[in-house]
This record gives sequence, structure tokens and C-alpha cells, in this order.
Amino acid sequence: SNRIMLGPLVAAIDQGTSSTRFLVFNAKTAELLSHHQVEIKQSFPKEGWVEEDPKEILQSVYECMDRTCEKLTQLNIDISNIKAIGVTNQRETTLVWDKETGEPLYNAIVWLDLRTQSTVERLISKTPGRNKNHLKHKTGLPISTYFSAVKLRWLLDNVDEVAEAVVTHRAMFGTVDSWLIWCLTGGKSGGVHCTDVTNASRTMLFNIHTLDWDPELCKYFDIPMEILPKVRSSSEIYGLMVSPGFQTHKCLGDQSAALVGQMCFQDGQAKNTYGTGCFLLRNTGAKPVMSDHGLLTTVAYKLGRDKPACYALEGSVAIAGAVVRWLKDNLGIIQTSTELEKLAASVGTSYGCYFVPAFSGLYAPYWEPSARGIICGLTQFTNRSHLAFAALEAVCFQTREILDAMNQDSGIPLTQLQVDGGMTSNRLLMQLQADILCIPVVKPSMPETTALGAAMAAGAAEGVSVWSLRPEDLSEVTSEKFEPQINPEESEFRYARWKKAVQRAMNWET
Ligand code: ADP
Repeated sequence: SNRIMLGPLVAAIDQGTSSTRFLVFNAKTAELLSHHQVEIKQSFPKEGWVEEDPKEILQSVYECMDRTCEKLTQLNIDISNIKAIGVTNQRETTLVWDKETGEPLYNAIVWLDLRTQSTVERLISKTPGRNKNHLKHKTGLPISTYFSAVKLRWLLDNVDEVAEAVVTHRAMFGTVDSWLIWCLTGGKSGGVHCTDVTNASRTMLFNIHTLDWDPELCKYFDIPMEILPKVRSSSEIYGLMVSPGFQTHKCLGDQSAALVGQMCFQDGQAKNTYGTGCFLLRNTGAKPVMSDHGLLTTVAYKLGRDKPACYALEGSVAIAGAVVRWLKDNLGIIQTSTELEKLAASVGTSYGCYFVPAFSGLYAPYWEPSARGIICGLTQFTNRSHLAFAALEAVCFQTREILDAMNQDSGIPLTQLQVDGGMTSNRLLMQLQADILCIPVVKPSMPETTALGAAMAAGAAEGVSVWSLRPEDLSEVTSEKFEPQINPEESEFRYARWKKAVQRAMNWET
């Protein structure tokens, strides 16, 4: 047959909170050749709990790989040219499995999950001065329900199978990257148990200065160190995939991958990703910078075993696209997420309605697990279109709060915001964001920057070396710019109202 000659290809597994994707790129041009996406079920077994099925996650990866390869073959593209596979994943989500049976011992506890709220409150109350930043000097993180350590602690305390597997030395802990890499490299018959520095830096067990698991932190949370994966750089060969045709792996937590995919390699460059949650990361170079304004300090990437680590300041928003899913699944006021834009655009204003979707407490800059969602400013006039508009505005206001914190921490205000993620297909949202930030919002025309970043790091790994990480290589990548269109006074007025609404959402549970 007439096989198309393209040279080396690099693939990425993008395992997000709401879906899994497999994507194949041309390593020479960064062109996306083919991809497939499968939605992931979330279960909410109790109020505040969020779980996913580890086996479903794994199956979704296999399904996406198979379907993408079928599509490539139909396009006459030779899949044996895929030289490496990168993994990028939802971060913090916590799994424990049995290394002898290969079976998960509980569902994956998703990062948004609130079941550890009382544990977190107890831990904070025991620190000197009730200081949620008690571990920040080592971890860069506040003590919060968000990170893996408390979720793992819950599994050890509440799931007999997990406790038993620890005693019999059969337990393995991992975030989603570790679970997938272990399974794909052979699972119970010799799978590689590893993670990368970016994912490790979200567990609260990892010292971001020494770049290793920290025995003191493990003792603090009473976590046996033998169940932890080996920590590797974000760009190296982790192992061979068992299925034929594919060779290697590397991985990056999804937000780091997006930073790489957006080519934010310079100190001061930033991107904001709008998925289930919303995550603004600003590269701070070789030194970890500690925030005075409620941001996290995290490892951005380490692109090779002997390369230095690069750090970022991060503002994390728990609920962004998740509010759209809530309007669809819980209220039924839209059938698909794309309908939201039409509905909101039909009114073009929230008519004074403010919606603080603090479903999982509030993350940055507040770190308040006892906050809960509220909708306020309702009148007889308010209808579902206004509510839809208020939901989109909520995403923009939350980003504004983070950008303000970021600008205060760094002293150098961002002059435009690079964006990506599933929600950025919503043009109304992008325009609203520019209006509320009063700076331009720039969106690449190829939206899959997270996967691109993971593919780049995989293709650049030593021993693969089919992709060089140079911005020039992406010079053909085009983007779209949204300029602010309302006057700053109007923007400030709405933002001040939002802040008032946030105050009402705070401390609801206490
Ligand atoms: P994740 O990586 O967290 O799985 P994605 O980047 O895939 O997330 O984005 C999916 C999220 O974006 C979902 O929560 C969905 O509700 C939201 N979303 C997708 N399309 C739109 C749209 N047109 N308008 C608003 N929200 C959207």
C-alpha cells in the first residue's frame, strides 16, 4: 500500500479527570495526526466524595490507543513510526493496588474529593498557631484535602484490603501516571513502579528542594515508604510497553505538560488551563519561590535525569468545567456542554446573579475546605440563561483572583494570558475572561497543548531524541487573541460583587 512517509511520530496518553485521550503527533512539525477520546465516569458515593474506577481508566487508555491506531492505519500512516509515548495525567488522584494480583484495592480517590476534610482540620489544629502552611517550606503546599497524602492516609485507615496489603508487602501506591505506567509496562509480571517529579510534588510527601520522598513527611502522615513509586525526571525512558509497536514512556502531570506544550520555558511565562478545574502556572525558573498570597510552589518539569528542575507558582481552582458538568448532569438545564455558550450568550449578562461553585471547598488563594457553593443576587427576573452566564463568569473571576495573587507575588504583572484546555472552545468564556482580567487572552489554534507537552518531553528523552524542545519548532503554531472589550470600571464593579459573594460562601460548614 502507499504508506505516507512522515518520519518519527510521538504519542501521548492524556488521562484527565473527565476523559482519556490518546494523540499522535508528527515530531518534526508538531502536527496532530490523529486522536481518540473516551469519557470517564465519576461516582459520588457520598456527599463530597468523588471516585473513579482504576480499571475503567486503564481500559479507556487501551481503547483510545486502539482506535487512534486504526485511524492512522486508515490514513496509511505507519504506526511503527511511533517512537515514544508520553503520559500526562490528572494529578493528586490516589490509588493503591496489589502488586501480586495486579488488582486495585479501592477506587481511585479523585483530587476533588472532600472526605478528608475532618482529617485536614485536625492536622491543622495540631500545628503551632493553627498554621495550614506548616509543611510548606518542604512541600510548597498548604495542608489541604487536595493532595494525595491525606487520601492515602484515609485508604490505610478505612480500607481493610489496603491495610492488609501493606502488612504483607503487596501494596503499591501511585497517582494515575504510576498506575498506568505500571500496567502498560507489564503489571504484575514486572511492571515499572515509578512517577515523575511533577506528580510527586503534589503528594505532600515529596521534598521539592531535594527532589525526593521525605522521611519526615512520610512519618508525619504515617505512610510506609516502601509503597511509594520511584521518582524519576519528566523526560526519560521509564520502561518498554508490553504491547508490540510501541517503545517508551515519560510523564508529566497534566498542568506541567501544558506549560511545556505552551512553550513556557522562560522565567515569568505563564499559562492557564481550563478543564475540570482551572490551573494557572507561572514558570519561576531554577528556584522554588514561596507565595505570600495563597499560591502553591510546585515542580514544573525536569527534562532529563541530569537536567535541573524548573519550578512554578501555581494557582489552582477546583471547579471550572465541573460547574458545566453540574449544570448538565445535576440540574439538566443543558444537554451538552456546548449548549451552555448559546444559552449564556442569549442574555449576555448574569443580571446581577453570582454563582460561587465552591463544591469542593475553595482552593487558591483561600484554601478553605469548609466553603460551600452559593448562588446569590437572584430576582424574579433571573432565569437559567443568567445562571449559565454566572457559571461562566465564575470561572473568569476565579482566574482573576489567581492572576492578582500571581502578580502580587512576582511584582511583574502579566500583560497577556496564554490559555488552553477543554473549556477554551467556549468563545464567550474567552471574551469574558479578557474583559474580567483587562488583559488579552491568547489561545493556540491547536488546543491539545497538554498532550503536546507530554509528547515533546517523551520525544526529547535521552535514547529517543526525535524531538528537540525548541520554540522555533512551533513557529507555525497559530493562535487567536481575545482583547478586553468592556471598560475597566465595569469590570472592577463586577469583580467586587464576586468577592462579596465569595465571602458568603466561606466557612459555611464551620
Ligand atoms: P480534564 O482535563 O479536566 O478532563 P478537559 O480539558 O478535557 O478537562 O475539559 C473538559 C471540561 O471542559 C469539562 O468539565 C466540560 O464540562 C468543559 N467544557 C467542554 N466544552 C465546553 C464548552 N464549550 N463550554 C463550557 N465548558 C466546556
